[in-house]
Amino acid sequence: MKLPTRVNHPPAVAVPEDNRPLVAPIYQSVKFTFGDVAEAQRQSRGERDGFAYSRVSNPTLRQLELTLAQLQGRDACLLMASGIAAVSVPLLSLCRQGDHVLLFAEMYQPSRYLVRRLLARYGITHTMLSIEDDAGIEHALASTPTRLVLFESPSNPVLKIADVARIAAAARAHGALTLLDNTFASFHNHGQFDIDIFAHSLTKYASGHGDVMGGAVIASQALIDSMRTDHIMIGATLDPHAAFLIQRGLKTYPLRYQRQCENALRVAEFLESQSSVARVAYPGLQSHPQHSLAKAQMHDFGTIVTIELHDQTRARKFSDALRLFAISASVGSTESLVQPGELMRARDLNEQERGWAALDDATVRLSIGIEDAADLIADLDQALRA
Ligand SMILES: *Cc1c(COP(=O)(O)O)cnc(C)c1O
Repeated sequence: MKLPTRVNHPPAVAVPEDNRPLVAPIYQSVKFTFGDVAEAQRQSRGERDGFAYSRVSNPTLRQLELTLAQLQGRDACLLMASGIAAVSVPLLSLCRQGDHVLLFAEMYQPSRYLVRRLLARYGITHTMLSIEDDAGIEHALASTPTRLVLFESPSNPVLKIADVARIAAAARAHGALTLLDNTFASFHNHGQFDIDIFAHSLTKYASGHGDVMGGAVIASQALIDSMRTDHIMIGATLDPHAAFLIQRGLKTYPLRYQRQCENALRVAEFLESQSSVARVAYPGLQSHPQHSLAKAQMHDFGTIVTIELHDQTRARKFSDALRLFAISASVGSTESLVQPGELMRARDLNEQERGWAALDDATVRLSIGIEDAADLIADLDQALRA
């Protein structure tokens, strides 16, 4: 072979069956080949196992799909290029013109955009309530045929706890599907409930290191199969290298999440004892209005602590004074992060809805990392004094 041929047809390296790599290699290949046309035909007709094109399926993605479905206690998983794609693909795939969606003001803002702006353009209507409005949820489902209920728990940033069993039962009774964005509580929580579809941002706790984006939709085999073709055509596919990094991150997810929860409780208890802090929201505190609900439905209380200072100026000064907490969007990194309310303004909400979301400029959200708890508390202490 001449050089241009050689570099395009490198020698194959076979790994013996009894000599497997401990860590699965990255299948960084878009295309998979076949010995002859008949086998390629059988693959395209779904008559054999294998892979043809990575937007459809890839072995590195397959391993991560199987892992995540097991972690959440469901049959199957579709991987996405980002967490928001794990919300948008089920919405686009499962809803059609004339359908009605129920959602909540306390949700992740881009999820509200998807329902209230994007789906609205395709003739899908919605009702937006507060996640605490049990009577309103029941009334909305009873009075309006509803295709899907989209919700989160704990909510962002004030950490309200949705009554998951109650919402799941109400939706089931009225023939609506449930789509729970389970990013904050993560894979080890909420699997025991009668939820149809879980959405996760893998950008947060799954990958854990703030260096890769991804999303997952986890559901029964039938629901996943019903969304699969739309997902392939929408094209929000995860790259194999990102899937590899997320699979690697998952190895320490239970350790990281546990440590972050322990740190979060210590930070919350410290902040609650400070007179310069007007209010602390952490579901693990006795003072949280839904502490007993959180305790009953979750194994732990999450890694986010949200506080209310006395005004916006103090919220900004406090955020600026922190040394270990980086001013940054997002959550779930190994490093602690801080986000003041003025950077989380909900411009799409009216005054009543902003009240439900309890978001104002004196709010500060802390995403707790895996650093030493005493160091974090010392940093918070000096920043409160500043
Ligand atoms: C971050 C986040 C998302 C979106 O995830 P990306 O990976 O950033 O697209 C969706 N839902 C919740 C609750 C999140 O925190």
